[in-house]
Amino acid sequence: MEGPPANDVCSICMARFEVPCQANCSHWFCGKCIMQYWQHGPTFLPCKCPLCRCQITLLVPGEASLRERRNPAVAEVLENIEKYNRLFGGQTRGVRQRFQDLPFLLRRLLREMITPSRSLPFVIQARVYIAVKSI
Ligand SMILES: [Zn+2]
Ligand SMILES: [Zn+2]
Repeated sequence: MEGPPANDVCSICMARFEVPCQANCSHWFCGKCIMQYWQHGPTFLPCKCPLCRCQITLLVPGEASLRERRNPAVAEVLENIEKYNRLFGGQTRGVRQRFQDLPFLLRRLLREMITPSRSLPFVIQARVYIAVKSI
């Protein structure tokens, strides 16, 4: 996709797109606007599209903005978008993350079973259950 539809405006700032980025739900926003929108919410959760409430896990900058990368302001926005994509984009990382968490949780579960005087907090049990179920 080259860029947002002609005559369309960013639905956050209601102005012409600056460093337009397309979200995985196909809506376009200024790179800066959608980053600011995300910073209003929790950092470690992907933001939801202000238009369709779809969870945004990928932002794809338009080709025109990629060509403007020499402009430091544009480069900064693009860097933030890449960071966002690394945090929330792609399922593979999510699965790997869960695998990394699992040994820690299982070790903890084992330790708790060996020392039955301390009962395992329900939250940890639930987390192990969820981690095992989702693999
Ligand atoms: Zn905007
Ligand atoms: Zn959307």
